[in-house]
Amino acid sequence: MEKKTFVTKEQVEEIVKSYPTPFHLYDEKGIRENIKALRDAFSWNNGFKEYFAVKATPNPFLINILREYGCGCDCSSYTELMLSEAIGAIGKDIMFSSNDTPMEEYVYANQLGAIINLDDITHIDFLEEAIGTFPETMSCRYNPGGLFKISNDIMDNPGDSKYGLTTEQLYEAFKILKSKGVKEFGIHAFLASNTVTNEYYPTLAKVLFELAVDLQKETGVHIKFINLSGGIGIPYQPGQEGNDIKVIGEGVRKVYEEVLTAAGMGDVAIYTELGRFMMGPYGCLVTKAIHEKHTYKEYIGVDACAVNLMRPAMYGAYHHITVLGKEEEPRDYQYDVTGSLCENNDKFAIDRMLPKVEMGDYMVIHDTGAHGFAMGYNYNGKLKSAELLLKEDGNVELIRRAEKPMDYYATFDFSDFHKKIKEISERESKI
Ligand SMILES: *Cc1c(COP(=O)(O)O)cnc(C)c1O
Repeated sequence: MEKKTFVTKEQVEEIVKSYPTPFHLYDEKGIRENIKALRDAFSWNNGFKEYFAVKATPNPFLINILREYGCGCDCSSYTELMLSEAIGAIGKDIMFSSNDTPMEEYVYANQLGAIINLDDITHIDFLEEAIGTFPETMSCRYNPGGLFKISNDIMDNPGDSKYGLTTEQLYEAFKILKSKGVKEFGIHAFLASNTVTNEYYPTLAKVLFELAVDLQKETGVHIKFINLSGGIGIPYQPGQEGNDIKVIGEGVRKVYEEVLTAAGMGDVAIYTELGRFMMGPYGCLVTKAIHEKHTYKEYIGVDACAVNLMRPAMYGAYHHITVLGKEEEPRDYQYDVTGSLCENNDKFAIDRMLPKVEMGDYMVIHDTGAHGFAMGYNYNGKLKSAELLLKEDGNVELIRRAEKPMDYYATFDFSDFHKKIKEISERESKI
């Protein structure tokens, strides 16, 4: 089954007249429909709020679309906090879910009035040293240890992860924070990544809701919110069934009523920190075939590389590829689709069946809207691409320009070398 692209060959042929490949393209319509569906699915919960995981797609233009629907920002670094402040997401619109946190980041997060989500019990003292008095609302990240299972399927291994407080530490932390004047509490947990099952959130919710009831009873604190964090995945493979956010929302509602409402805690707000689910399917990497190579295998070389999309090289992740204009043709050629890095893992696909690829064909690498551009780096001196937004009216807007050589060399701006590079850059009209 062919996965559909949200852009056509004709549209790409128009776009490349202004913006050469490779580029990441985002689908405004898809982003809007999806956030509306998420909001509807949790509309039963009064305080519901999505804090978009900025690290997934740190582009202010895209996050501003989500802001229209009431989304806040989930930040975990200094620069992410800056982005958030610059687009006006401050105060309770920021969830600061960091770990191994430098002191200056706590200071800045606190200045912005962010909700601070502690990753460790030792951070209570560390934070106190950083900011003096605690804010009224605080959150802690929970790690139950062991294996996280849904029915009998192992979803992930929290016992092996660096994040969060143990059960015992969580009780202790809430007591300490309460004694230091904190009034409202949140519980956060992220126990499995990229789950493609409607059971993940409800299963996680049940664990956290039961914990919340007991914590409130044992420690006397008021639990204000439960943050189910990220982890709702997307179907990267063709034919794979995606999550149904409506079913997920209803699943969480059911356990909410059974556990929280039943315990008189029907005022608890549900927060999420979704990244992948919000943007993943609504971005793609558009690239052009520029070489074919016939050696021990058949290779197609494209003008994008792992610098533009790292997931296949890093995790062996599957990203579907469509050769534009050949959607209906049989996939009867087997290729490795490669980038130009001097790294043999720079392959977007290995042994992939595709229609016959000709030089100059445009190829769409699907589902790059989250953890795509964002993971980019500059190995081999390769530059990061532009990001473009395909608007609902069909127009295309530049939402991040492509890097230029002078961006790559910017950190030498104290030296003569930089002056020389600038001369060369000007001579080559690359500035
Ligand atoms: C990465 C991350 C998220 C988002 O994860 P997705 O898999 O993109 O949904 C949310 N919260 C925290 C703390 C994260 O580190």
